[in-house]
Amino acid sequence: MNAMTMYKYGLKVITGPSGVGKGTLVKKLIEEDKNIWLSISATTRSPRDGEVDGKHYFFLKQKDFKNLIKEDGFLEWAEFAGNLYGTPRAEVQKKLSIGKKVLLEIELDGARQIRKTFKDAFQIFIAPPSFRELEKRIRGRATDSEDDINRRLNRAKYEIDAQSEFDAIVINDNIDTALDEIRRLIKT
Ligand code: 5GP
Repeated sequence: MNAMTMYKYGLKVITGPSGVGKGTLVKKLIEEDKNIWLSISATTRSPRDGEVDGKHYFFLKQKDFKNLIKEDGFLEWAEFAGNLYGTPRAEVQKKLSIGKKVLLEIELDGARQIRKTFKDAFQIFIAPPSFRELEKRIRGRATDSEDDINRRLNRAKYEIDAQSEFDAIVINDNIDTALDEIRRLIKT
């Protein structure tokens, strides 16, 4: 396999509504497989309790984020629930070029952009067992304001409606079952 082929096939995208458990799934995947690298996104939202700059996200001021957009520093970026989120380009390209699998945990608009620029990236949609269950999980997190929760719930409906665009849909009802499915899907 030449470098260009690896470059095209190593990119895996995980999308799904806020609160569906993407973060937990992705964390487990990278812990068990050192050949998978999780891209650290940049965002303009404030850190939640326990979130560390450079580990969970690069927390940027709006101005700095916008400068990076102008410099073409993002592979994709999108606005979500009033904040900007983006995948820094350089590190992803570097990791792909040395044959690593790169995982992007991003929302729907970003996944759509990647679909255009990386046609061979494999895209998985993580779906909740039901909308009610999702609402329970988002409210249970209790770190977001009521406004933010409502924005995320509205957005979740929009994302769930788009799930058929994806290469695979994994329902996160039981975490071990969901993990098994994802492992199988990203094996190649
Ligand atoms: P949260 O604020 O809950 O950490 O993330 C909100 C949403 O933004 C989630 O759906 C998450 O997957 C998505 N997200 C995180 N990083 C990125 C990114 O780099 N690009 C895009 N498009 N979405 C992202």
